[in-house]
Amino acid sequence: MRILLSLVFVIFTTSSFAVTFNGKFVQGSFILGKTEAGSEVFIDKKKVKVTSDGYFVFGLSRDRKNDVVIKINEKKIIKKIFKRKYKIQRIDGLDEKKVTPPEEVYERIKKENKWIGKARAIDSDLTFFKNKFAIPVENAIITGVYGSQRILNGKPKWPHYGLDFAAEEGTKIKAMLSGVVTLAEPDLFYTGGTLIFDHGHGISTLYMHMEKVLVKKGQKVKQGDIIGTVGSTGRATGAHLDVRLNWFNIRLDPATVLDIKN
Ligand SMILES: [Zn+2]
Repeated sequence: MRILLSLVFVIFTTSSFAVTFNGKFVQGSFILGKTEAGSEVFIDKKKVKVTSDGYFVFGLSRDRKNDVVIKINEKKIIKKIFKRKYKIQRIDGLDEKKVTPPEEVYERIKKENKWIGKARAIDSDLTFFKNKFAIPVENAIITGVYGSQRILNGKPKWPHYGLDFAAEEGTKIKAMLSGVVTLAEPDLFYTGGTLIFDHGHGISTLYMHMEKVLVKKGQKVKQGDIIGTVGSTGRATGAHLDVRLNWFNIRLDPATVLDIKN
């Protein structure tokens, strides 16, 4: 009798509640969820959009330690987060001027960060985030990874949240995913030639240090379209493309959506 009861319970729970996750519950990860259409989904108490066919998306920050609470139609799922080890590099004896930006550019940096923040906050109904991402530059060497951090003259700097593809100046850059351009700037202080794309439900991608920006704000772009060329604009030490992936203001590891080992 007891066995029969538990069997009934299993069937009941699986038929009334089904969810699958594509992505690992690891710091920095992008996670695509799929449940029944018409479901209501909350991630850590934040209500997220669900597509007409039941897809939703979220991400885990670089230093997240606490469990994720996923609520789907009153059902709670609690997932543990696996921690990662990031590369930490200490460099001492640097010229202070190179460690801190000059005061006269503070206002500019503040203004530009606001533009970027605004683009990342967009919560559109686009559903491109469901599709597979593609590598933006062919035959490039990965020279920088997500999460790494430098400690300059004893001061911990902002961690590196991108994935760096070193390539020759002028190398064509392809859109990793279809989307709509929400920011197109030829020369921002830190990031130089910069593009931001909206892919729906708070998922955005950034492309930085571009030599040429070949698309305009508001333009719809298909995956694989040429969007610009590799450069060293902004604060860059050499020609490379730095790509970023966000879920709203949370910075995710682009390697978790590209076929790159991290
Ligand atoms: Zn970078």
